[in-house]
Amino acid sequence: MEKVRCLIIGSGPAGYTAAIYAARADMSPVLYTGIQPGGQLTTTNEVDNFPGYPAGIPGPQLMEDLQQQASRFNTDIRMGIVTRVDLSDRPFHVVADDGAEILAETLIVATGATARYLGLPSEHHYKGRGVSACATCDGFFYRGQDVAVVGGGDTAAEEATYLARMCRRVFLIHRRNELRASKAMQHRVMNTPNLEVIWDHVPVEVLGDTRGVNGVMVENVRTGMRKKLDIQGFFVAIGHVPNTDLFKDQLTLDQNGYVITAPDSTRTSVEGVFACGDVQDHVFRQAVTAAGTGCMAALEAERFLASLES
Ligand code: NDP
Repeated sequence: MEKVRCLIIGSGPAGYTAAIYAARADMSPVLYTGIQPGGQLTTTNEVDNFPGYPAGIPGPQLMEDLQQQASRFNTDIRMGIVTRVDLSDRPFHVVADDGAEILAETLIVATGATARYLGLPSEHHYKGRGVSACATCDGFFYRGQDVAVVGGGDTAAEEATYLARMCRRVFLIHRRNELRASKAMQHRVMNTPNLEVIWDHVPVEVLGDTRGVNGVMVENVRTGMRKKLDIQGFFVAIGHVPNTDLFKDQLTLDQNGYVITAPDSTRTSVEGVFACGDVQDHVFRQAVTAAGTGCMAALEAERFLASLES
């Protein structure tokens, strides 16, 4: 069976950054890209907030650059999906869909999270052309325009107030008559003059034409009455699902399924397993924070191996 010192699962900013650091520390990492090579950023048009790109960079290009940087230091990058892990014993037994069976001395979990969408066909149709799940990534493109955010949690409240700073008008569409968001966030929403909450409504259709989104049809959940909101950007903020199915019953997860890591560390509940990026972060969820924790995971994996060998 193949033996590796460091196996990385996931190919977003966290996974590739972990690979760059692990490879430069002579850990000869093997990285499995997972279902969506490049991760969530590959669905983002332009990334303007990743340090080092003064003119911005398309999300897919940023991920291509990170992949090349990881390859340059001899990361073994494999297009494939890890289908099974056994963390009960170290080295960890890992099975992938290319038929590989691997014994890994350390494992870095960088499987990310997936944004939840409403599931409307029209929402899918306009993804990347007015429909987004990340205001921090895409809000800038709607400067001076009208947008809507769906959801009533902290993310929706935060995204709506963020967008209100650059957009002309923001509608926050929520299916109930009270927000789930923290009191502080609720207060901020209520005190933002160009932000209007559309209570008790759900979007039923995203409207648009060849140029992209130009409206959304919403329905009152109590009366069934429909109305159209004229908007150019439609932001879905109804939560994320961490990609942790592989690790259920093996790593300690929080109530929402995120991997729990030790404070100021990427250590998980299993010695030798480290988690970085959105799979363990439901608060910041930025490419740069994911890259930062990817670096931490590789350094901690290296120190872990060194402590065993000394
Ligand atoms: P939440 O699960 O807290 O909120 C999701 C929101 O989306 C809810 O208001 C929910 O409505 C609504 N919703 C869910 N499904 C649908 C649907 N199909 N149609 C319409 N609306 C829907 O997710 P968040 O991403 O907001 O937050 C996740 C976690 O991260 C929370 O613990 C949050 O506190 C935390 N967080 C903290 C931040 C901070 O501290 N700065 C920033 C962002 C997040 P309903 O209320 O009716 O269930």
